[in-house]
Amino acid sequence: MEGSTQKAEEKPRKTFAEFLESTPPGVMEEIADLFSPNQFGSWFVSQPDVQLHCWSETCQGERFFHCPSDLKGVGSSRFANIFLVYRCRNCRQKAKQYALLVCQHDGVNKRSGEAIKFGEIPSFGPHIPSRVISLIGPNREFFLQGRRAENHGLGIGAFAYYRRVVENQKGRVIREIGKVAKKLGASEDVLKQFETAAQEDQFSKAIDDIKDTIPRGLLIDGHNPLKLLHSALSEGMHAQTDEECLQIAGDIRIVLTELADRISQVLKDESELKQAVGRLLNRGTDNPSK
Ligand SMILES: [Zn+2]
Repeated sequence: MEGSTQKAEEKPRKTFAEFLESTPPGVMEEIADLFSPNQFGSWFVSQPDVQLHCWSETCQGERFFHCPSDLKGVGSSRFANIFLVYRCRNCRQKAKQYALLVCQHDGVNKRSGEAIKFGEIPSFGPHIPSRVISLIGPNREFFLQGRRAENHGLGIGAFAYYRRVVENQKGRVIREIGKVAKKLGASEDVLKQFETAAQEDQFSKAIDDIKDTIPRGLLIDGHNPLKLLHSALSEGMHAQTDEECLQIAGDIRIVLTELADRISQVLKDESELKQAVGRLLNRGTDNPSK
């Protein structure tokens, strides 16, 4: 049933849902199921459900979004500029909007076509957990710029932004790690080492100062996360190509995200545990029969 002779078949094709979820603006893609016919045989732009991160208070995770807008046709020109507004099926509060150019293929397979995004709101890219944003604090905007550059495959740009973030915020990151050490019962001496390292200008010296005192729970695959960041920064400085920089930029983002996750996990566990103990103790006194 799918077309057999179109040149569209030579390129890998995405489904329209995959395109909406994962293709950045400005990239033209071949799409297998861009159009669907109605009962009278007229063709309209498909409106498949898509899976996106929903940032509403109730959802905070991957959810299905649907598009309740009117169907859009392309007419005889086979081109159309369209807006699609998607809404979260779960909370019905959050919406994602796409502006697109769509083009229907001529010939046998009217289902397929090409599409390019002019843009989308909220902007394209995987969700950035708030834990990362709070870890890097004042350099939030640089981090988001790095993410945008990464989304567009601009490796040198992405690396430069992330490098700025790590270099500017290394003291803050070390203090956060110190907080974890404190929660886990580190001695005053060890906490002083963290404070000294946080004030150290030279990153490698700071890392050395606290290399034996980083809580084990923060090691990433057995490695000191600060060392991983430091070696990514030095590697990036010597990287020759945009592709190499892009890969290193991605590594820096992943390590920062993982570190932020682990820090918040330890700090949260501790506060949850305290609350649980508090509740148990209170129950014990309020209701001794239980
Ligand atoms: Zn939702």
